[in-house]
Amino acid sequence: MPIAFFPGSFDPMTNGHLDILLQALNVADRIVVGIGIQHSKKPLFSFEERSALIIASLAQRLPGEENRVSVVAFSNLAVDAARENSATLLIRGLRDGSDLDYEMQMAGMNGQMAEDIQTVFLPASPLNRPITATLVRQIAAMGGDVSAFVPGPVLAALQKR
Ligand code: ADP
Repeated sequence: MPIAFFPGSFDPMTNGHLDILLQALNVADRIVVGIGIQHSKKPLFSFEERSALIIASLAQRLPGEENRVSVVAFSNLAVDAARENSATLLIRGLRDGSDLDYEMQMAGMNGQMAEDIQTVFLPASPLNRPITATLVRQIAAMGGDVSAFVPGPVLAALQKR
C-alpha cells in the first residue's frame, strides 16, 4: 500500500481532521501529515505542539496505529512536499459542496503539475462536517465548550491556554 501526504494547518487538530486521518489509514500504509507553515500567520500552537497533539489524538483513538503516521513541516507546494516524502497520494477531506468546488480546482491544477501524485478525497462524517479549527479557536478563546469538536488531548491543551 502506498504512502499518503495529508496537508493542512491543524491549528489545532479537530475531530474533523482525525476523522480524515483515520479514513486515510484505510487507503495508505503510511501517512505523512504535513503542517503548512506560513510565516505571515501566527498560529495558536507551535509546530511541535500541533505535531504532538496529532500523534497523541491518534494514539488515544487507535492505540498502536500512530506508528504509521509521521508529521512534517512544509512551506512549499503540497505536491512537492508529497514527493519529498515519497508519497504518491494526496489526501483531502471534504465537508460540503463549497469544499468540493475549491478542492476540484486544486486537484486539477495539482494533477497537471504532478502527474505522479493522485489526489484522494475523503468525505467527512456527518457529525464532523461543520467543524473548523478557526471556529474551535474562537469558541475556546471565549470560554466555550469545544469538547464535542476536538480530541481529548487537544481539549486539554486548549484548556491550559
Ligand atoms: P487547509 O487550510 O489546507 O484546508 P485545514 O487544517 O483547515 O487546512 O484542513 C486540512 C485538511 O483537513 C483539509 O483537507 C480539510 O478539507 C480537512 N478538514 C478540515 N476540517 C475538516 C472536517 N471538519 N471534516 C473533514 N475534513 C476536514
